[in-house]
Amino acid sequence: MDAITTPSPATPPASGGERFFAGPFEGSERAAQVIAQVTAFLDGELAELARAHGIDHEHGADRALLQRVWKRSRELGFYGMTLPEKMGGLGLTVLDHVLVKEAIYATGSPFAPHVFGELSGPPRVGALARFATPLQMQRFILPVAQAEKAICFALTEAEAGSDAGNVQTHAVRDGDDYVIDGRKRFISGSPFADFAVLVASTATDPAQREHPREISAFFVDLHAPGVRVESGYKTMAGQSSTGDIVFEHHRVPATQLIGEPGRGLALALGRITVNRLLHCPAMIGLATVALRDARDHALRRRQFGRAIGQFQAIQHMLAEMATDLAAARALMLHTARQLDAGIDGRAESSMAKLCCSETAFRVADRAVQILGGEGIVQGRRVEFLFRMLRMYRVLTGTSEIQKNTIARELLGDTR
Ligand SMILES: Cc1cc2nc3c(=O)[nH]c(=O)nc-3n(C[C@H](O)[C@H](O)[C@H](O)COP(=O)(O)OP(=O)(O)OC[C@H]3O[C@@H](n4cnc5c(N)ncnc54)[C@H](O)[C@@H]3O)c2cc1C
Repeated sequence: MDAITTPSPATPPASGGERFFAGPFEGSERAAQVIAQVTAFLDGELAELARAHGIDHEHGADRALLQRVWKRSRELGFYGMTLPEKMGGLGLTVLDHVLVKEAIYATGSPFAPHVFGELSGPPRVGALARFATPLQMQRFILPVAQAEKAICFALTEAEAGSDAGNVQTHAVRDGDDYVIDGRKRFISGSPFADFAVLVASTATDPAQREHPREISAFFVDLHAPGVRVESGYKTMAGQSSTGDIVFEHHRVPATQLIGEPGRGLALALGRITVNRLLHCPAMIGLATVALRDARDHALRRRQFGRAIGQFQAIQHMLAEMATDLAAARALMLHTARQLDAGIDGRAESSMAKLCCSETAFRVADRAVQILGGEGIVQGRRVEFLFRMLRMYRVLTGTSEIQKNTIARELLGDTR
């Protein structure tokens, strides 16, 4: 069964509510053009490709097919759009970036994370370009930017989740090389990546390893000796694009160290404020799909001789969903504008991530309720969205960690 099918007839029911899904556009003309082109690509060529290969959210494409998508997206000018302008990027504002990404996810396409290589492409390397040596640029960054190679970002470990500074994977200097041992957990895109940006301890004092603070970042080749990816698990959303990376005496030349030793966490988390915000449009885009499906079902489904949308209980759920979603979206756009204006925005991005992830999940939960039994059949679109949107409350900083950040900014350090 198609994972993102709905029990809907081909023609959506008549409704006056379209402006809830297509309000006035707040971005630049450029962003509007990109959105028109990229959604046509997703709804046309990529939808056809997904149908032809049986791809949906739970049956992902293999590496060869993904690479076709990346390359085609690059030909059309989308793949590298988040790169710095001197590398061919579009120089989008944060607001434009958010709006483009929201539109991409609102298509409901299983290829949404791949059109600009969010999991394994240019967004993973764009910010590193200014720290990279010419050799690193040539060997790692350009092949990723050109859709020849894929890269993942490896920070989390079994004992270093929310406490990212507690990484135990260590890189020990040995002549012109570093020798790396350790295990990374939950790394998105690792099952099909060629490279990783690895965050590891380079502390020379073994006692410091208990809670190492000297942390560095490296480019590593996942096909080299002493590295393997183990990917035998699926997330609750059914995807298996996440894996562990195991390093056993993996030797890398010191030339693969990114920036200065000891600057790894700063490099890894350097863009955390903007990156946190940039997860919000995915949640809002997907929650918009859930609201639309719930609205359409409420208009179509008849019980007790009338459309269920005539019952006040259903109307109130839809009204709350639309209101919550509009409020979360407004916070996301407001935060984007603030970041564009150059404010620090750490607390604001955390507020946006907290609010969007919690809201999007509530919207999906109510959508399941409105669809009744159809909503809990595995493979229905709202059922998938419910599971997918549950994950965002944990990913890229849990809701509790966002609250810690907001409270710290509000109260100062209370220790
Ligand atoms: C599908 C998926 C993809 C991922 N992709 C990547 C990736 O590409 N790269 C990468 O490096 N990582 C990745 N991760 C890891 C992800 O970022 C972590 O799972 C996340 O940061 C939470 O860490 P944890 O799972 O260890 O939970 P823990 O840190 O163990 O948290 C468990 C619970 O304790 C709470 N908690 C912890 N500390 C505090 C505190 N100080 N105050 C209050 N509550 C607290 C948390 O909020 C949570 O409720 C991915 C994870 C998943 C599931």
